[in-house]
Amino acid sequence: MSGQPELPQPTSTDDLEALPKAELHLHLRGAIPGWYLRQQFRKYRPAEVIASAPPKQLAWMLAHPGVRRIVRSDDPQSEIDSLFRRGTFQEFLGAYLFTGYFVRQVEDFRNLVQAVRSELRRQNIVYAEVTVSLPEYMQQGIELKDLLVVLAEDPAEPPRVHWIVDPVRSFGPEAAASLVERILPDRPQSVIGLTLGGAEHLHPPAPFQRAYQIAREGGLRTTIHAGEALGPESVWDAVRILEVERVGHGVRAVEDSNLVRHLAERGIPLEVCPTSNVCTGIYPSLEEHPVRELFEAGVPLSVNTDDPSFFQISLARELANLRNLGFSWPEIGVVADNGFRQAFEPVAARTRPGASPGSTS
Ligand SMILES: [Zn+2]
Repeated sequence: MSGQPELPQPTSTDDLEALPKAELHLHLRGAIPGWYLRQQFRKYRPAEVIASAPPKQLAWMLAHPGVRRIVRSDDPQSEIDSLFRRGTFQEFLGAYLFTGYFVRQVEDFRNLVQAVRSELRRQNIVYAEVTVSLPEYMQQGIELKDLLVVLAEDPAEPPRVHWIVDPVRSFGPEAAASLVERILPDRPQSVIGLTLGGAEHLHPPAPFQRAYQIAREGGLRTTIHAGEALGPESVWDAVRILEVERVGHGVRAVEDSNLVRHLAERGIPLEVCPTSNVCTGIYPSLEEHPVRELFEAGVPLSVNTDDPSFFQISLARELANLRNLGFSWPEIGVVADNGFRQAFEPVAARTRPGASPGSTS
């Protein structure tokens, strides 16, 4: 294939660690490092911080054993690991919600962004499209304009980061459209796309059509979490009604052969997150995950970590796990490379060492 970059091929897990990688489906707070949270526990006392939470959220958070230990401990920093232990989906949501209470000021947000950047760099992830659920930070009192200032900061050192904004579907279609409208006039170049995360089964894609139309007309690229909690009909709506360019997860498309064919023929990529799907109970085990079936059917896909801190996974290990699902090393190389090829940033592949300039496809 002329015009394709020459890329090193992995033949071991160690190679995958060393390989320059791209990640397309990663949540900022899902990648929160434990050491960042330790710092925040010095700044804000956990028991005091969550005392202001609405009763429903408080009950949700305290359902997590790690949160209970942290809140009751005289030394909360020593209990961080218990927060990141894998548990039920409800426990994950409680722990995720809890971490949001420690990003209260714009400096906390900036430090979180820098902390996640440094973790990506440590993993040799040189390009990332990171989902940022803006309302979660706005709810803590940080102004949208200040969040955008931080997202616009573009350090010269890798990784190159682009942001995919998530208006969070539980706030509803009107709020999503209005948030997109507010972002567009002063949108930094680094804010590249729109997604929707949150409870898909309570808020399916179709009502968000206006938000996606505004985003597209304003130059944002589009993806959405779909085909995770809900089945193929949600993915159909995402591609036909919202006209998204990629689908986050999308794995339950496998339940409809017409949809699988549609994705393959139209070249609509899925951002597949196998470990996440097992942790959230979509599939009982990695062995039962359909990523191999989708790959063999010709659906373009990348592999990603989603919320790596909570699911205790790294991108290299996520890729290495594909070996247990019948992927050869060259095929794993293709999937790793798809992180660059399916990126919204057209020059992404050029940021990868070893790739020749101008050789994107
Ligand atoms: Zn996600």
